[in-house]
Amino acid sequence: MIVYDLACAAGHDFEGWFGSSTDFEAQKAAGLLACPQCDSREVRKMPQAPAVARRGNAHPLARLRAAIEAEFDDVGSRFAEEARARHEAALRGEEVRGAYGEASPAEVRSLVEEGVPVAPLPFRPRRRADA
Ligand SMILES: [Zn+2]
Repeated sequence: MIVYDLACAAGHDFEGWFGSSTDFEAQKAAGLLACPQCDSREVRKMPQAPAVARRGNAHPLARLRAAIEAEFDDVGSRFAEEARARHEAALRGEEVRGAYGEASPAEVRSLVEEGVPVAPLPFRPRRRADA
């Protein structure tokens, strides 16, 4: 887990959480990073050493993770198709559970374009992180 201090072209500062520096580059390349204030996609990393979030249940991320793992289904690499199917079921008025898993930046962009509500997780799935 890495937190970066980011800044847009207009000079707005904000924070971004990433599983790794590769995740940051992939999200930036896919145009998924945007300034929360002006929506600029011209996001750069501020010069600063990355910080690693400490482990432990006291950390809000650990609680968020526990809640997601308890209430969402882990669909692994089938995330894109599962998210799409669950979104369509929800539109039909069916009760659906949330899902989490892995998707490529291209898959995430397609989902966003299709109006499927997805969000990046600020942590890696447990089986990966603890592997
Ligand atoms: Zn901005």
